[in-house]
Amino acid sequence: MFLHNKRLMHTVRVDSPNPQFGQLLLEQFGGPNGELAAAMRYFTQAWNEPDGERRSMLADIATEELSHLEMVGQAIVMLMKGSPASELDKVEGDYLGDLLDGKHEDYVALSTAAPASVLSGGGPALTDSAGNRFTADWIDTLGEPSADLRSDIAAEARAKIVYERLIKQCNDAALKASLNFLMTREIAHQQMFEAALASITDNFPPGTLPGDERLGHLYVHDSDGSGPSSPADGFALAERHKGEWGFELDEDPIARAADQTIL
Ligand code: MN
Ligand code: MN
Repeated sequence: MFLHNKRLMHTVRVDSPNPQFGQLLLEQFGGPNGELAAAMRYFTQAWNEPDGERRSMLADIATEELSHLEMVGQAIVMLMKGSPASELDKVEGDYLGDLLDGKHEDYVALSTAAPASVLSGGGPALTDSAGNRFTADWIDTLGEPSADLRSDIAAEARAKIVYERLIKQCNDAALKASLNFLMTREIAHQQMFEAALASITDNFPPGTLPGDERLGHLYVHDSDGSGPSSPADGFALAERHKGEWGFELDEDPIARAADQTIL
């Protein structure tokens, strides 16, 4: 059951209207690493999660992502309409009305730079920043907790980086504070999913079939040695950070492959 609490999770402020940045921010509204995608990713996993604690965490984070979606949507509207606190004059001067009616002096430039925001009447569209429509194709829930949690960790890492890139492009101090809040929460989520994955003992390899013991530790040396880098580099890297797994070098994959002739 959901009840809508009308307070935002964190106050959103925008110093100045900026439709172009609103367009960019759509990436975190209806984009592949955005808040709607995150909420749907974790909801779909929560319903199918057999462990009560992990199910609870997934539902909590899914719900928080919807709260983030509210904040991003509010920010996009403010970037179109102006912040009530500092841009009242512009709003009362019908900044948005002029913009949407094509009367704003910069209408063509703003429309070209921010078509989705302008053509959706100043509200957030269910698209990414390039106008691609939101799609479930972006959500890769598989229904196996250790595989899904690894994907969730990567999704949170991507969300953090997208916010970081937006913050670096943002020259609006008030909005930057809101984006910093959102970015930081994705850091927290990444750590929560790391903890959830660690709660699954024997989480590698994923699933129940163990794999072929002769192949699972093999580092196949697939470089021919003619390039500028040392052909042993990749194996050295794997060896240095192998943990308990261990690798053995397949020195001559061509000779091994020759054992199996394709007719
Ligand atoms: Mn989020
Ligand atoms: Mn998150």
